[in-house]
Amino acid sequence: MSYKVGVIRGDGIGPEIVAEALKVLDKVAEKYNEKFDYTDILLGGASIDATGKPLTEEALETAKSCDAVLMGSIGGNTTTSPWYKLPANLRPEAGLLAIRKGLGLFANMRPAYLYEELKDACPLREDIIGDGFDLVVMRELTGGLYFGERKTFEEDGVTKAVDTLTYSEEEIRRIAVRGFDIAMKRRKKVTSVDKANVLDSSRLWRKVVNEVAQDYPEVELEHMLVDNCAMQLVRDPKQFDVILTENMFGDILSDEASMVTGSIGMLSSASLKEGSFGLYEPSHGSAPDIAGQNIANPIATILSASMLLRYSFNMDEAADAVDHAVKQVLKDGYRTVDIMSEGMTKVGCKEMGTLIAERI
Ligand code: NAD
Repeated sequence: MSYKVGVIRGDGIGPEIVAEALKVLDKVAEKYNEKFDYTDILLGGASIDATGKPLTEEALETAKSCDAVLMGSIGGNTTTSPWYKLPANLRPEAGLLAIRKGLGLFANMRPAYLYEELKDACPLREDIIGDGFDLVVMRELTGGLYFGERKTFEEDGVTKAVDTLTYSEEEIRRIAVRGFDIAMKRRKKVTSVDKANVLDSSRLWRKVVNEVAQDYPEVELEHMLVDNCAMQLVRDPKQFDVILTENMFGDILSDEASMVTGSIGMLSSASLKEGSFGLYEPSHGSAPDIAGQNIANPIATILSASMLLRYSFNMDEAADAVDHAVKQVLKDGYRTVDIMSEGMTKVGCKEMGTLIAERI
């Protein structure tokens, strides 16, 4: 089959790490007899330099016409880059927000996976880590407190501020469906996180999640209060498979979950909508401090490509092969400088990409 893949090379290390992910996708295409048609899309600083805008209408339309989009990171050095002298709506990050909104991406998925070989980087105790953990945080991205009405006002001579947390049944249902779909491709467990002992929006969240669960009898569902979840993530992260939660709780919990792996530079992410379309990118930024030196770690981007195969193209076998190749390269002792440790073999960005592609 032939798939149209949008490619946002981005800024800083973006073009270097994306090149390695494409190397891996090319190997997948060859091995599994698939065809990926790559279409370049400008975003962020690269788009500002070429067009004066961080995202053009044309680029957004191209992204919409793709089956999935793979992205490196965007942005530059926020103190020295001329991009940050521009008004906020013309800076690189404005392009990222605009493309997510323009594509209607309402769900963000961030896996937190602990590699056996990188266990030393994990800040948790050995007895807690056990033989590792593998979870994803599925966060609602376009509703809740960050998008509700807000204002600061004076009342009786006192300054007050109010933010509003609103969710509709529909907003909850669509992310819940995505969360259960993802769980079906994993270990079939959903932990829905809310604050239903206090918040009405959380009680509605729980009700709708329970309804959606009826359509997924194979998936085990549990509800957990957010304060408890924050504790459980450091007490026993192994218990989680898919954590499904609203915008602000997900913002906080996804950072906590990635931090407990100890290697944030290895983590991929996806922004999703209904159906199979997704935008896949590393969790880290564009690392302008190391751009152009062939020392960036391409693994987060390669794992983002693996998620693209699994969740947008339903190519589980190929995605497994990519994930396995990453594990094998780590097992064979190859490290980029950010994850280097004694006795290992240091390799550059290109070499890491080649080593992974070779093992597919
Ligand atoms: P960053 O993640 O780019 O870098 C933080 C540190 O981690 C740096 O020392 C960097 O060298 C290192 N690092 C990051 N990725 C690495 C990799 N793959 N291999 C080796 N080392 C790596 O965060 P920052 O410095 O705060 O931000 C830099 C730029 O990235 C800013 O313009 C910021 O706005 C942007 N940014 C973009 C995204 C995105 O595109 N989604 C996300 C976060 C930050």
